[in-house]
Amino acid sequence: MNCNPIPEREDWFITDRKPTICPRCGKKEVRPSMFGMPSPEVWESGKWHIAGCMPDFPEHRTWGCRNCDAAFWKDTKHNLGRLHGVVHRDKEGKLRLGYPESMPQ
Ligand SMILES: [Zn+2]
Repeated sequence: MNCNPIPEREDWFITDRKPTICPRCGKKEVRPSMFGMPSPEVWESGKWHIAGCMPDFPEHRTWGCRNCDAAFWKDTKHNLGRLHGVVHRDKEGKLRLGYPESMPQ
């Protein structure tokens, strides 16, 4: 699994697939994330990370950890495009928060 922590946010990750074990807390509690109010069946099923009423900005996480609320985005062009300006890859290919230093402010 290719799981890239974002140095400035220890609870944000970009991954190429759903982590089985949360790299932050070590629990097997990573689930597809949904926001809004779920039905009681969904809530009790344990199959979803429930994010509440507020989606993540600027793109809602793909998966979330039910134990520690770590956020995971699938490593897709769409997600990286949407997260652009919040997350970018630096010269070493690491994900960083904020704009690239080379970009005019
Ligand atoms: Zn966790």
